[in-house]
Amino acid sequence: MDKIKIAFFDAKDYDRESFIKSNEDKYQIDYFETRLTPDTCRLAEGYDAVCVFVNDDINKEVIDKLVEMKVKLIALRCAGYNNVDVGYAYGKIHIVRVPAYSPYAVAEHAMALLLTSVRRIHKAYIRTRDFNFSLNGLTGFDLHGKTVGVVGTGKIGRIFIDICRGFGMNVIAYDKFPAEGSGIEYVSLDELWEKSDIISFHCPLTSENRHMVNAESIAKMKKGVVLINTSRGGLIDTESLVEGIKQRKVGAACLDVYEEESNVFFHDYSNHIVDDDTLARLISMPNVIVTSHQAFLTAEALSNIADTTLANVAEFFEKGYGSNEVCYKCPEVKNCTQEHKKKCF
Ligand code: NAD
Repeated sequence: MDKIKIAFFDAKDYDRESFIKSNEDKYQIDYFETRLTPDTCRLAEGYDAVCVFVNDDINKEVIDKLVEMKVKLIALRCAGYNNVDVGYAYGKIHIVRVPAYSPYAVAEHAMALLLTSVRRIHKAYIRTRDFNFSLNGLTGFDLHGKTVGVVGTGKIGRIFIDICRGFGMNVIAYDKFPAEGSGIEYVSLDELWEKSDIISFHCPLTSENRHMVNAESIAKMKKGVVLINTSRGGLIDTESLVEGIKQRKVGAACLDVYEEESNVFFHDYSNHIVDDDTLARLISMPNVIVTSHQAFLTAEALSNIADTTLANVAEFFEKGYGSNEVCYKCPEVKNCTQEHKKKCF
């Protein structure tokens, strides 16, 4: 039997390394550095599956072209799927994802950003490299005793909560679906905005919570609040954030994601003039730390991503179902076929 062929888009060196190791030559995987777009779609001609990441835009046009080329599976090598038109894909092409690969990686990165920010490590690092040992302007604050508001108490949010409790912080949380009996103190979103010294986002981006951080919600927050976003950039209206920082209302922002990140993140623009004025303004601010969607990037997570993605492909082509299938109908459908380990359609 011919090997299953996978067209791997937006491939980076670290992807190749982990997938080559995990694949052990079982599938034919061809790595393309380009993203999957309507223009690059033709590269998938003759393949059984495409493997894509967070910034590949799987819109209607891409879906139509993949279906036309008889590609049967979109294998996301990430958890979030806000970049895929899952509603349009339903009934046309199957989608699988990696629901969890290392929630620790993301939660620990969120805390790394917070500590870096409040203890001014990013400033101190640059100073001491230049033999500047002055402490002026580096005063931080204790995390102990501060209130952290966690939005989204799933896998990552809960680990972040545990880490914060280890620091002696008070934790309050908001989740659209609160976990009963979890010992987490749930509050309304307004209460979370009002009471938190630090707010960290760990919920998916949906059409309903897009720009949940906006001028109105920022107005309700404490003066000096620290915002951490390792979830999805679209949760924050960046223009409002910039304004909030300029007005000294937001004390600091730690951003691993940015709503316009697909144009810049994962690329080296160090020799270019960046066109995105909002991003340039953010980066110029001393109390803003930006990392380029790297929260997931640990050896453990990469290995789990490769193993789960290839297991998803195996399950789909060999066993005929996808237990990690994404199906936009699931929340509505009683007796969902996935519960019986069958394909969604
Ligand atoms: P999860 O599914 O385990 O938890 C998400 C939680 O958010 C759930 O408890 C859910 O009830 C809650 N939720 C859903 N809609 C909500 C809403 N409108 N408001 C508040 N809460 C809501 O997911 P997870 O594994 O913890 O991941 C959380 C998010 O982290 C992902 O959606 C993804 O966007 C992001 N992520 C980022 C990276 C990175 O590298 N920066 C890596 C992985 C995941």
